[in-house]
Amino acid sequence: MHFLPGLWKSSVSSFLARSAVEGNSLTTNFGIRTYAEMFQKMEDTYKFCVQCKKLPSRLPDPRAMRRCKRCQNIYYCSSECQRENWPIHKKFCRKLKVAAIDRLVEWLIFTGDIPFPTSPWTTSITNIKTWEDWFAMQESLEVKLDAIMAGRYMGILWANAGKPKPENSELRESVKRLTTDFFTRPMTIGFALNTFRVDPYGGPVTIHVVGASHIETLNIRATDYDELAKMFPGNQGLEVVMIGPEVVDGPVMRPPLTAYGPRGRVYVSGYKSLYHDFWETVVENERAARPDLVVGFHPGIYYVKLYPSAPVT
Ligand SMILES: [Zn+2]
Ligand SMILES: [Zn+2]
Repeated sequence: MHFLPGLWKSSVSSFLARSAVEGNSLTTNFGIRTYAEMFQKMEDTYKFCVQCKKLPSRLPDPRAMRRCKRCQNIYYCSSECQRENWPIHKKFCRKLKVAAIDRLVEWLIFTGDIPFPTSPWTTSITNIKTWEDWFAMQESLEVKLDAIMAGRYMGILWANAGKPKPENSELRESVKRLTTDFFTRPMTIGFALNTFRVDPYGGPVTIHVVGASHIETLNIRATDYDELAKMFPGNQGLEVVMIGPEVVDGPVMRPPLTAYGPRGRVYVSGYKSLYHDFWETVVENERAARPDLVVGFHPGIYYVKLYPSAPVT
């Protein structure tokens, strides 16, 4: 199965991450009073002339910064810079338009609109080769997408984004792209279980995600890996433990299971430490089940490294 490149490290996530790092509380909207201000602050990180690299503060009038009207993504200090840059920019303008929409719509992951509630997989994993195959399994897909399109937060988003609302067809495609991004990690794990013949029907399965990063665990919900249970309907229980020195405190910061996964469901937990420390202090002392699969996601480039481990005895 070919996955689209992930957007997990894109602007909304890193913006939220930065705000959290700066010590502002996420629960109070990290010190930002209005939605307009939130989107504005995010957009500000893109405000520099892509041709001469000048920042708005270096212009006589900072508001003179102009945005490419086609992509609504990049800025120029002047029409001269825009003209000079066009031969290069025209090759990327269309792609940057899509990226500019996605980095705003990504907010709907944080509001909980994305992903929509998914259906249990109705065919064997080996039959699912593309995202189209996966979308085809989703019951009432159009109704679910329409609900996101008409949702409260989609409305708030475009009322405050400071950009014209894209066409509905463009927004739908964006929602679908972000849905696939959201599911890339759980599905990569699911395909790995299949590849290494770890059988979630034979008994509970434990997966260790080593080197879990700040971005991977910031705002993570206990339900974020639920698609794994949809991939294996009737499974004996799946456990995902995120381990890494950067793991962020949150709802998944709870002890790993020692035995018997939650049948038919996914249990996610987090542990902030280096993997060998986790192994020596927790696994070896039988305070956590031994893993059936150990996974490491590369932090930058989107690919996955897999280490099959010995089956639990
Ligand atoms: Zn310039
Ligand atoms: Zn453009």
